[in-house]
Parts: sequence; structure tokens; C-alpha cells
Amino acid sequence: MAERICKSHRVLVGLEVHVQLSTKSKMFTGAANGFGAEPNTQVDEQVLGLPGVLPVMNKTAVEYAIKAGLALGCRIARHTKWDRKSYYYPDLPKNYQISQYDLPLCLEGEFELVRKDGSSLKVRIRRAHLEEDAGKLLHEAPGGYAIDFSIVDLNRAGTPLLEIVTEPDLSRPTDVALFGQELQKLVQFLGVSLGQMQMGHMRFEPNINVHITDQDGNIHKTAITEIKNLNSFSVLERATAYEVQRQIRQWEETGSLGHKSTYGWDEGNQATYWQRDKEEANDYRYFPDPDLPPVEVGDAWIAELKSQMGELPAARRKRYVDVLGLSATDAAILAGDRATGDFYESAIAAGGDAKRVSHLILSHGRRLANEKSVALEAVGIKPIRFAEVANLIDQNKISASSAGAIFDSLSKGDSSPDQLAKEMGLMQVSDSGAIDAAIDAMIASDPKPLQDYRAGKQSAMGALVGMVMKSGKGLNPKMVQEALKKKLGQ
Ligand code: MN
Repeated sequence: MAERICKSHRVLVGLEVHVQLSTKSKMFTGAANGFGAEPNTQVDEQVLGLPGVLPVMNKTAVEYAIKAGLALGCRIARHTKWDRKSYYYPDLPKNYQISQYDLPLCLEGEFELVRKDGSSLKVRIRRAHLEEDAGKLLHEAPGGYAIDFSIVDLNRAGTPLLEIVTEPDLSRPTDVALFGQELQKLVQFLGVSLGQMQMGHMRFEPNINVHITDQDGNIHKTAITEIKNLNSFSVLERATAYEVQRQIRQWEETGSLGHKSTYGWDEGNQATYWQRDKEEANDYRYFPDPDLPPVEVGDAWIAELKSQMGELPAARRKRYVDVLGLSATDAAILAGDRATGDFYESAIAAGGDAKRVSHLILSHGRRLANEKSVALEAVGIKPIRFAEVANLIDQNKISASSAGAIFDSLSKGDSSPDQLAKEMGLMQVSDSGAIDAAIDAMIASDPKPLQDYRAGKQSAMGALVGMVMKSGKGLNPKMVQEALKKKLGQ
């Protein structure tokens, strides 16, 4: 038997992501959409699937989905509808899920991933559609009591989900995880989902297959497997990497390209495991839901939603680098979430130098936010204060090293930085007469550093400036150095 050797391979990964939208109520009824409530308290007749109850579409969920679609570069369908996906399971009392089958709300998008090293990758979005979630089956009782049956919590049933499906444009496991992280930032920025992984707001399902080139140059394509329900970026990366290697190993060891099937992730064994061969779409007996009218989306509605979205994180990040001259790292942090970016925007709008303000926010603003364990905008310092402190530094009125003390004080109560600097004795003396007097006094008291400097020891300049600064409180160090050089004949 000829040996099978994988000489090279190409990995194709497409992602399916379910994002829970942060609407107040559920997708087709007024029951609350929340997390952490007592089991089976966020249910009503519609969620329970009682006879004679009619669904009503949640308009906000549709608007959130359109915003996410626009941000992913999708075309928004002008006409869409709701379909029933039938299956029988204890977490789905109606015995069908309302979803969108052949007319998804958003389609044909493209999203640019920017890696840490600055290289980028375009990921095409096949579609994004709205649907309702199912409930949750629990296999132990609340409090961790062992039971030999399963119980169901229907609080999650009927919550709005946006299912986003990419084309198989990803191949590196790190890119797969990065896509997840960027999508999380995006939905949080848009305010359409809380995007909290630990609360299950985002669930990832990579679809993976490999094109293997053997020693004779023949290409063998493995069957696509889908890993279900991954809810951390780290697991997403590890499970993808494992599954690629498993498919290659399976072909090398058995010659099998596998079947289209569904796998799970076993964290204990750090391995994927087979769950079932994949259902074909027609197993679900999709058909249009007769209880819900189709959705018509007009241009005016889309334009209105677009205007609410503002500048997207990727565009903001790019502008901070290209126009404001920030480093890629600083730009990524400031544009990373909407609140921080908006705070920065307000500060530069108030007249601070863009780079100086970014430096002050990233050092002092973040330090105080960490100390108080709050977000930047909750520290209690107004954006304009960052601009004012930046200007004090740029006008040589205070030294950059005084900024920390001023921000400490501002975080305890609002005040004018100019006034604070005066009260705290941080204003630098820029009066040349006072500076000359301090230099003369220093030379009189200790001529040694001066002799060193004259002997050609350039490093003594630092010591000289330091001594003058010590003798004359609050002098402007730049002016001291200039005056010294002048006095010493340079
Ligand atoms: Mn789905």
C-alpha cells in the first residue's frame, strides 16, 4: 500500500457566529430579554408556544441587525421574510425556530482584519440573518445537585440572534480568533450586543476543511466539519488548530477524507470529538411563517440607521494613524471602544494637540481608571481638562512630569488645571532674570560641575541644569539649559 504523505496543505475556515442582540424584549414577543433571572421567569405564552398565540416582530432587533450588516459591508435586502425551521427538541416548545432561510436581511459583505503585525486580510461575509434562540437544557439542578433527568430553562428561548456566516476566507487559527475579537469590538461599538463571552452573547462555529497535496502532487479535499458552540477566543483558536491537524492525520492514517459532520470541543482532552453526521437543510422543512408579514426595508430607514452609527472603529483607527500621526498601537487602544474614542475626540476638539492628548489619556487617564476600576469616562475628569493640561505643557508653563499631580487632583474634583498648577506651585518660572540669578548662585556655591563641563565633559550639563533647578524652585528646565549654554559661551 502506497504511503500517504501530506506534503503541503491549504486550510479553509468559514465561521458561523451567533450574536445575541441586546434588545429589551425578545425577537417576537414582549417578554424580557435579560441574563441571570430566575429560571423560566422570562417566558410568556408566545415563548411557550401555546396555541393561538401570534408573534410580533421586534423592530429594534431588525435595526440592530441592519447596523451590524452595514458595519460588515453587507448589502441590506430591501425585501425579506421569516421562515420556520422545524425541529423537535425540549428546549424549543413551539417545535420550530423562526429564522430567515433564502432571503437573509444582510448579504455579500466584506470585513478587513488587521493583524498585530499590520498585515491585513479581507474576509467576505456570505450572509447575516435574524432568528430566535432556543432555551437551555440543564443536566444538573441549580445549586449543582445531581439529577438523573434533564430540566429546561426557557429564559433564553426567543431572544434575538444575529447569525453571521463568513465565506471560507480564514486559514490561520490566530486569524479565526482575531475575527471573533474584532466582531466583538464591532457589535459593542454599535451598541447592538453586550458581546460578553461568559454570558454566551457570542457563540462561534468554525467550518473547517483542508486541501491536502500528496507526494505525487494530487490534491485531496477533506469533508467539511463544523465545531459547535465555542464561546471563548482561546478555545476557538485551539479547536480550529486541532481540527486541521486531525483531518490531515485521519487522511494520512486511513485515507479517509471524512464525512460532512459536526464535532464538539473537549476542553479536558484538548481535542475535538465527533457528534453526528450533518443534517441536510431539507431535514428542517423550512417554509415561510404564515403568522409574520414580510419585511420591507426602505432607503430612508437605512440612511437613518447609518447616520446613527457614526465612524466605525476601523475607520477611526486608520484616521488616528494617517491624519493625527498616532502610533498604530495607541490608535488601536483609543479607537478600540466607542467611549474611549469619543472621549479622545472631545479632548482634541477642545483644542489639545492630538499626540500630546493621546499620551496624557493613555498614561494618566488609564492609570486613574485602573486605580478606580472604572472606565476612562467614569474617572471624573472632563475631556477638556486633558486638552488644557496638554496646552500648559506645550506652552512650557508646566513640565510634563507635573501632569500626574494635576490629574490626581482633577480626579478628586473638577477645577481649572491652570489654577491648580498655580496653587500646587507647579508653574514654571520663565522669567529670565530669575533664571540668571539662580545660575549665578549655583556657580558661586559649587564650581565643580562647571569645571567638569568646561573640561569637555558634556554629560555635566545635566548635572548643572539639575543644580539650578534645585536652587531656584519651579524654573523652566528648557530655559535654564538655554541660559546656561549662553552663559558658558556656546
Ligand atoms: Mn442559527
